[in-house]
Amino acid sequence: MTQYLFVTGGVVSSLGKGITSASIAVLLEKRGLKVSLQKLDPYINVDPGTMSPFQHGEVYVTEDGAETDLDLGHYERFTHAAVNKYSNATTGSIYSEVIRRERRGDYLGRTVQVIPHITDHIQELILMGAQQGPDVAIVEIGGTVGDIESLPFLEAIRQFGLKQPAGDVCYVHLTLLPFLRASGEMKTKPTQQSVGKLREIGIIPNILVCRCERPMEPGMREKISLFCNVRPEDVIEEVDVDTSIYEVPLNLLRDGLDAALVRHLRLQDTPSGSWGDWEDLLGRLRNPAGEVEIAVVGKYIELHDAYKSIYEALSHGGAAHRHRLRLRKISAEDLAARGPDGFLRGVHGVLIPGGFGERGLEGKIAAAGWCRTRGLPCFGICFGMQAMTIEYARNVVGLAGANSTEVAPDCPHPVIDLMRDQRGVSDKGGSMRLGAYPCRLLDGSVASTIYGRDMVLERHRHRWELNNNYRRRLEQAGLRCSGVYEARDLVEIIELPAHPFWLGVQYHPEFKSKPLQPHPLFAAFIGAAVRCKEGGGAPAAEAPALVTQP
Ligand code: GLN
Repeated sequence: MTQYLFVTGGVVSSLGKGITSASIAVLLEKRGLKVSLQKLDPYINVDPGTMSPFQHGEVYVTEDGAETDLDLGHYERFTHAAVNKYSNATTGSIYSEVIRRERRGDYLGRTVQVIPHITDHIQELILMGAQQGPDVAIVEIGGTVGDIESLPFLEAIRQFGLKQPAGDVCYVHLTLLPFLRASGEMKTKPTQQSVGKLREIGIIPNILVCRCERPMEPGMREKISLFCNVRPEDVIEEVDVDTSIYEVPLNLLRDGLDAALVRHLRLQDTPSGSWGDWEDLLGRLRNPAGEVEIAVVGKYIELHDAYKSIYEALSHGGAAHRHRLRLRKISAEDLAARGPDGFLRGVHGVLIPGGFGERGLEGKIAAAGWCRTRGLPCFGICFGMQAMTIEYARNVVGLAGANSTEVAPDCPHPVIDLMRDQRGVSDKGGSMRLGAYPCRLLDGSVASTIYGRDMVLERHRHRWELNNNYRRRLEQAGLRCSGVYEARDLVEIIELPAHPFWLGVQYHPEFKSKPLQPHPLFAAFIGAAVRCKEGGGAPAAEAPALVTQP
């Protein structure tokens, strides 16, 4: 029998509900339980796929090709649970399904209403999210208690609790204890009011997790307990972490969340399992042997969430080499305007992430060229790989004006072109090449050596591809196409064999990297950056030997 654990958030947004939910999942997995994770988002977009990264942060792609909330990235990184298209739903997707059923005549003449029709469908989705039969299904409700948009979700989880056997549902509420510098105290009032709001709806939280910038003051637990009707031992502190988000599960374990879960889910009261793997990870993060500096040349540099999985994957690669990561976030547009030199000098590796549209592409191309000619490690992802291809076509093959038809439809050399099956696609939502596809690695290539295998499964999100009409010319000029999706002969990986690390992938390896299992490409890239640093860094001027002329 599956038990259900709902995570709501109060007071303010951005409290880290996703990381807290993922950490709860880790605590349960350490007890040998199987968990599933799901996020219900109150916004009206059907999925975040059409939203600007500035609005929503990155779009996380699941193995089965759903474009989802970035919290699902935390779920997969922290746990062994696999997310899929049932792991994320929005007000938009819920209403479209209910309206579709109404058009089909499913409601037999009845008036379709928020209660019961929308709330019933939400409960149906919660059951679908748990269809693999986990021991505990964790469901995170997006937004903040008190928002108009969250109401149907809160009503649905209240009703859901009523239908389950007593004790099989646990409500965890995450709140904020703000510290007022002027008066030098930590305040519980916002927490009291937020819990009050939940109780108005009929949800009585079992556990309160309190975010705070410093440890709770004495007596605080008791005060919160009294005003919020939660036992003091169920008031858990979640203090800001200084090294890494991967400290959170162990911190919560130490502050009694594991014990609270045991009580509320009536689990066997045995000690938690071994945490050696997490402790080892934290040891490597806290006591690095050195530091490397990686530049990320992108379009949405101002917002950390826009490249969340990339930054996380880089940190996993850093931990694998026991190196702290210093990030230099560079706007691709600024780099294009002022040239790469002032921006890239001194870094030990450059990562060029994915993106869409013209803005910033020339900067990414320039960065790729700077790395290629100086022997500086360069890792291109999706649009980044396409930028590397354009750079090579222009500056090594000699194809002046080479470009992607995404930004220059009439360019003389469309080395990156729209995939055939994308032609005529007019709807923007959910219509890219999405999700996992197998990629065959060329024997003896850099990629196959790094992966240590000849087939990999990686996740995609794109419409353009390397144009096969140019493949021979690129390859004759020294670019190696080392990974191919055989069913459609799509180039998935490019690399330069003689370069310390100049490799681009059409897919998004960042989605499959975990702190305890760093993605091989990220680990290899950071390894190359460490070697670059140890070798004294990249030369200030071009290293002619690295320009592979035809
Ligand atoms: N805009 C490019 C394409 O659609 C790259 C997409 C991406 O980087 N995710 O092919």
